[in-house]
Amino acid sequence: MNITEQKISIEKVKQSKINQVDFDNLSFGSVFADHMLVCDYKNGKWEAPKVIPYQPIVLDPSSKIFHYGQSIFEGMKAYKDANNDTWLFRPLENQKRLNVSAKRMAIPEIPEDYFMEGLKTLLKVDEQWIPKNEGSSLYIRPFIFATGQGFHASPANEYKFIISCAPSGAYFSGKVKVLIEEKYSRSANGGVGFAKAGGNYAGQFYPTQLAVAKGYNQVIWTDDNTHEYIEEAGAMNIFIRINDTLITGPTSDRILDGITRKSILEIAKDENIKTEVRKITVAEVIAAAKDGSLKEMFGAGTAAVISPIATFGYRDVDYDLPENEDSMATKLKKRITDIQYNKAEDPFGWRYKV
Ligand SMILES: *Cc1c(COP(=O)(O)O)cnc(C)c1O
Repeated sequence: MNITEQKISIEKVKQSKINQVDFDNLSFGSVFADHMLVCDYKNGKWEAPKVIPYQPIVLDPSSKIFHYGQSIFEGMKAYKDANNDTWLFRPLENQKRLNVSAKRMAIPEIPEDYFMEGLKTLLKVDEQWIPKNEGSSLYIRPFIFATGQGFHASPANEYKFIISCAPSGAYFSGKVKVLIEEKYSRSANGGVGFAKAGGNYAGQFYPTQLAVAKGYNQVIWTDDNTHEYIEEAGAMNIFIRINDTLITGPTSDRILDGITRKSILEIAKDENIKTEVRKITVAEVIAAAKDGSLKEMFGAGTAAVISPIATFGYRDVDYDLPENEDSMATKLKKRITDIQYNKAEDPFGWRYKV
């Protein structure tokens, strides 16, 4: 079945909650728009998606999500421009990546039209929920999980695909202090680190709590085998600037293929910034910090876009990053967000009108 917007049923809330929301003081992902898109997988196929009021879900205790963790998600945003038009940023990349994650977790893939038509229909119904304030956006969370029942350790036969949205304010992370992790790993060769699978994040919480107890905000993940290579910054990709070269690790089983990461690489090329996609060692970063050639480190991901790192810790020593007047983080963040909010030309064709 091909899904068109006409085939998506819409049940609206009787009373909108929007007047209870203070759009001038939004935090990140903690208030939810009136509606959600729901699509069930049963009898070997995805049923027609529907838009319904945002509400709790009833699940059987034997639903496999609770026991075997078949759960994947995406994170994206909708933006309003000065003319009140709504835009998405490279949404098909999220749709494709959700299916990359689905395949790895033995979850049935969601067809492109179900995802895109469902998302567009939801955004039209909840259009008033897309914040217009500077730097704010509607955070969009598509996810799929196993509803099928049974304690047998095998893939479920039923699933739910949901898209829910949260109006969110500009994400200021302040001065981020990170700790290079050498004991715990986020991911491993042959594992699921490249998938946005719920369990990847559960596995990060404990090592992150240990880092927080030591006064850091976040963990820098190194490779699981030698812990010599820098891989990701928490749940963000990482960029390291040495002199005037911007370096990030190659994507792999262990490093997630971030849309922000690959957009930054293309914008950097367009800005004539020298980039290198290669493995980067902790030793190289420490040496660069000592001789002054380490200029910047930042995380990259949809939520914060770019999150500059002020200090990193390694084996009980803290290294401060310099304050740069010509920060690449600031320049790249402005270029990417100007494209997202339709404030500048989009030579890459990334903006998508809803
Ligand atoms: C989602 C995510 C990213 C960033 O991906 P974007 O597409 O840029 O939002 C990076 N690393 C991990 C582990 C992630 O889960």
